[in-house]
Amino acid sequence: MAVVGVLALQGSFNEHIAALRRLGVKGVEIRKPEQLQSVSSLIIPGGESTTMAKLAEYHNLFPALREFVEMGKPVWGTCAGLIFLANKATGQKTGGQKLVGGLDCTVHRNFFGSQIQSFEADLPVPELASKEGGPETFRGIFIRAPAILEAGPEVQVLADYPVPSNKFLDSDSFIEDKKENAEEGGKVIVAVRQGNILGTAFHPELTADTRWHSYFIKMSNANVGEEASSSSLVPAE
Ligand code: GLN
Repeated sequence: MAVVGVLALQGSFNEHIAALRRLGVKGVEIRKPEQLQSVSSLIIPGGESTTMAKLAEYHNLFPALREFVEMGKPVWGTCAGLIFLANKATGQKTGGQKLVGGLDCTVHRNFFGSQIQSFEADLPVPELASKEGGPETFRGIFIRAPAILEAGPEVQVLADYPVPSNKFLDSDSFIEDKKENAEEGGKVIVAVRQGNILGTAFHPELTADTRWHSYFIKMSNANVGEEASSSSLVPAE
């Protein structure tokens, strides 16, 4: 069984731990680089990505976080956590923001607007539909949420969302987003998977629906299984 860590510097880490608990899994709070060695996968919560980056820098977590991702251990970023995992972040006040990277995406911070433009929406997510015919829609809670405007060829899109028309009333964003191909009437990406990296622009930990957490636990357990079977291929002395 995988041991799931939750980066506990800032943001909604308690809510992720509570969601894992509802599934019978104990989430381990991570605040120091050496604590990453005791977990097999990691959730990076939502919050405020520049603050989280400053705290991660203060605790010297960036090298260990990058190594964790490079080793192919499962990592799930929600909202600010997704920004953290992207190779590139754009949007206002993004200059110099430190990222962990690994996810071949360009993420636009605060894409849907300010705090008061936060919203909820039912998202079709075929990946979450159960074999027994369970629902494929998921209630996404978007709080000053980012959106993915560009994704590399290895990135699997799990959910997208229409670009809000009010986006195009705001002249600054309009010019910037036009440059980044977020067209009026088009869609932006809000959930992705690239190998063992999972990213959601919304907050599953703030709902009672644990399907994203189950999905990530499955990813985590599968990776532990793979690590065990590849090490069993090493010939005994
Ligand atoms: N807008 C925040 C940021 O840029 C993310 C918001 C969130 O995690 N709910 O970091």
